[in-house]
Amino acid sequence: MSPQKKQIAAIKGTKDILPQEARKWQRVEAEAKGIFELYGYREIRTPVFEATELFEKGTGQTSDVVTKEMYTFVDKGGRSLTLRPEYTPSIVRSIIENRLNLKPQPLRFYFIGPMFRYDKPQKGRFRQFHQIDIEVFGEKDPAIDAEIVEMADFLCSSLGVMDREILVNSVGCRECRPAYHQDLKASAESYRAKLCADCQRKIDINPLRIFDCKNETCRKIAREFPIITDYLCPECEKHFHKFSCYLDSYGIKHRVEPLLVRGLDYYTKTTFEIISSKLGAQDSILGGGRYDDMMKDFGGPDICGIGFAVGLERLLSLVPFGKKPEVFVYVVTIGEKAKKTGMELARAIRRTGVECLIEYKDRSLRNQISRADKLRATWVLIIGEDEIKKKKFQLKKMESGEQISCTQKEMLKIFSETV
Ligand SMILES: [Zn+2]
Ligand SMILES: [Zn+2]
Repeated sequence: MSPQKKQIAAIKGTKDILPQEARKWQRVEAEAKGIFELYGYREIRTPVFEATELFEKGTGQTSDVVTKEMYTFVDKGGRSLTLRPEYTPSIVRSIIENRLNLKPQPLRFYFIGPMFRYDKPQKGRFRQFHQIDIEVFGEKDPAIDAEIVEMADFLCSSLGVMDREILVNSVGCRECRPAYHQDLKASAESYRAKLCADCQRKIDINPLRIFDCKNETCRKIAREFPIITDYLCPECEKHFHKFSCYLDSYGIKHRVEPLLVRGLDYYTKTTFEIISSKLGAQDSILGGGRYDDMMKDFGGPDICGIGFAVGLERLLSLVPFGKKPEVFVYVVTIGEKAKKTGMELARAIRRTGVECLIEYKDRSLRNQISRADKLRATWVLIIGEDEIKKKKFQLKKMESGEQISCTQKEMLKIFSETV
C-alpha cells in the first residue's frame, strides 16, 4: 500500500476473531450445540436486521436497549431497520410468521451469533458482540425452568468453568406486579436525591431498572427497597416453590436473590443467572427467565416462553483451553515431478482425516523443512526424484527426528491410525 493511502480500520467496538482465537470459539460453540441437541433443541437462524418496531415492542419502549443502544438506520426504501440487540423478539416473530407452533415438533430452539448495541465500547464491551441463546415455548411447568437451569449448569461444567453460582428469583406476573411496582416506586421516590441521575429518570419510567444500576450508592439503596417475592400471587408463589424444589432434586445448589429482576420488561415469574466470582463486578455468565406474555403481545398465539442468553466473549474468558497439539503433515517436494506426486499424496492424506499442507514455493529442501518446523508440523513427507522412482517416501516425525521409508499404502495406514 502506498503511504499516502489511508488505511481502513475495523469499526470502533468491533474486532476480528483471528484463527487461533476462532479455534476456541469453535470449541465452545460445538460443545454448546452438542449439549442443546441432547435436550431436544434445534438450531434456528434469523436475519441480522429486522423492522425497528419489533425490538421496540419486544424490549419495551422504556428499556435502556431501546432508549440509547439500538443500531437503527433508515434503508434506501425509507424503512427504519435495526440490527438485532437481542434475540428473543426475532424468534417470536419467526414462530408466528412460520406458524411453527402448529407443527408437531417441540418449540425448542438454539441460536449462536452476533448482536449489536450502540454501547460505549469500553472495558471489553463491544458494539458487535456474540450470544448463545436458547428458547422454549409452550411449556408452563416449572420443571422446564429447572431443566433449563440444569442444562446451563451442565454447559458451564463441561466447558470447565469453575467458581460459579446460580441465582434465582421470581419477578411475578401481570396480576401481582402492579402492587409491587407501586410500592417500589414510592420507596425509590423517597430516596430520589441520593440516586444517580440515570436512576432518578428510571423512577418515573420503570423503577425495576434501578436494580440494574452498577453505581455503588444506588446498589446499596436498592437493598432497602421492597422485594418482589413478598408480593407474589398464589400462582407465582407455587411456580417459584416448585422450580426451586426441582432444582433441589437435581442436586443443583442455588440462591434466591430478590434483586435479580433482569433488565427487560417482558420477564414473568422465573428469572435466573449463573455468575462467576472470576468476572468481577460484571459477574454474570448467563442469564434468562420466563416471558409468558410475549408471544401474545406480539399478536401471536397465547403460548408461554422461557430461555437464556450467554455472552460468548465473557464465557470464553472463563474457559480453560489446554494446548492440544494439532496433527498435520507438511509435504516437501523437489522438482516439478515430485510436486505433482506430492499434490496427489496430499489429497490422499486429507482423505484419511489428517490435515495436510504442501509447500508451493520454490525453496531448498533445508528451507522447506525449517519452515515445517516453524509451523510445528507433526510429520514431514519428503518427495524427491529418487522417492518417486522407488515408490517409497521419506516420512519424518518432527518431534523425535525419526525417519522412515514407506510406500503410499503404508503411509496412509499410519495416518488413518492417528485419527
Ligand atoms: Zn403472579
Ligand atoms: Zn443508579
